Amino acid sequence: MRKKIVAGNWKMNTTYEEGEKLVQGIIEKKSEVKGDVTLIVAPPFTHLCCFAEPLGKAGIGISAQNCASHESGAYTGEVSAAMLASIDVHYCILGHSERREYYGETNNILLEKVKLALKHNLTPIFCIGEKLGEREAGKQFDVVKGQLQAVVCQLPAADFEKIIVAYEPVWAIGTGKTATAAQAQEVHAYIRKVLADTFGDAANRTPILYGGSCNPTTAPELFGQPDIDGGLIGGASLKPADFISVAKGF
Ligand code: PEP
Repeated sequence: MRKKIVAGNWKMNTTYEEGEKLVQGIIEKKSEVKGDVTLIVAPPFTHLCCFAEPLGKAGIGISAQNCASHESGAYTGEVSAAMLASIDVHYCILGHSERREYYGETNNILLEKVKLALKHNLTPIFCIGEKLGEREAGKQFDVVKGQLQAVVCQLPAADFEKIIVAYEPVWAIGTGKTATAAQAQEVHAYIRKVLADTFGDAANRTPILYGGSCNPTTAPELFGQPDIDGGLIGGASLKPADFISVAKGF
């Protein structure tokens, strides 16, 4: 049995006050989610320190959306994995397509970030996925394989066991175009196969989340697929009712 996980990526949204209300709303509604579903919330850096305690008390995980690729030092504006761990953050989204696209995060940089996150006991939520042109050219399998082989497959087996993977087709992120359950399942099964080629049976224990315009309507069919273990949710994580409804999709 793999873990079922629903993680909310708030991106660069919410002032502190708005974020507080959103956290409160999620905590109040959490009991509506039946079964063993791990909820994770990823607010902006500025909110993490104050939200860690109430979320922790409510049994909800807290994640950063990024961390530095260096341990510490003269890297103005960066936030290290050690800093995040020191305020009881337990997860870190890495490799999101927006970071790859707008901030030039290459596979080499991401490998450093993943290693540092693991060193400081943060669980990476490692995002992969193809762009629209790549999907149209039928290259989605090659793209995700390349992203996995360059980063996740470089890890020692013991570290691999700690990773969460998120398949996020870039054409589905923030576009309202959810991948069909069949399209997502096909790639998730392939991701698991690529991981199994390197890590064997351990790949059957890796949670693989789907992300890309997942919402309360599309979540149940997606989460019903054999290799989809939950979701990484952007837009629909910004309203407590929507986020909780997605999590009720199992
Ligand atoms: C995301 O950015 O991780 C995401 C899945 O966004 P959205 O749900 O808004 O497509």
